[in-house]
Amino acid sequence: MAAPLPNIPYSPGPEMVCSNCGVTMPLISAFCPGCGESMRELPVADRLAASFSYFTFIPAAVFLLLPGFRNRRFVRFHAWQSVLMWGAYVVLSLSALFLSNISAAMFFLIAGILASLAVFFAWIVLAIKSWQGERFDLPLFGAFAERLR
Ligand SMILES: [Zn+2]
Repeated sequence: MAAPLPNIPYSPGPEMVCSNCGVTMPLISAFCPGCGESMRELPVADRLAASFSYFTFIPAAVFLLLPGFRNRRFVRFHAWQSVLMWGAYVVLSLSALFLSNISAAMFFLIAGILASLAVFFAWIVLAIKSWQGERFDLPLFGAFAERLR
């Protein structure tokens, strides 16, 4: 027979935060109660693939097409985000090229340089974040990638 427990205020014990949705849960949780994401540590292969998928959109497209990655939601999120980011960059660059004339050339040159820098910076940040097993949502693209994966 166990003795009645003394009146100790409830203490939740060690907790962790979901990197996918931000919900707090006990450290021992296997799945997030908020979004259902697996809380086991991501395999190195997944993090490597996710990080590599930002190296232009080509590896990302390959990962999305390979049947082996169909259930790797972390990789697929980053692959989709990469495809969306690079796709937007290519479309904007091409439309700038077609629209440019002499008077607009300087504007498009400067805008093009700024867009290139932004994509380059985002690329570095996203490659590092995904390698660390984190999600990092780009504005707009992140929400799309979440629905597509
Ligand atoms: Zn979650």
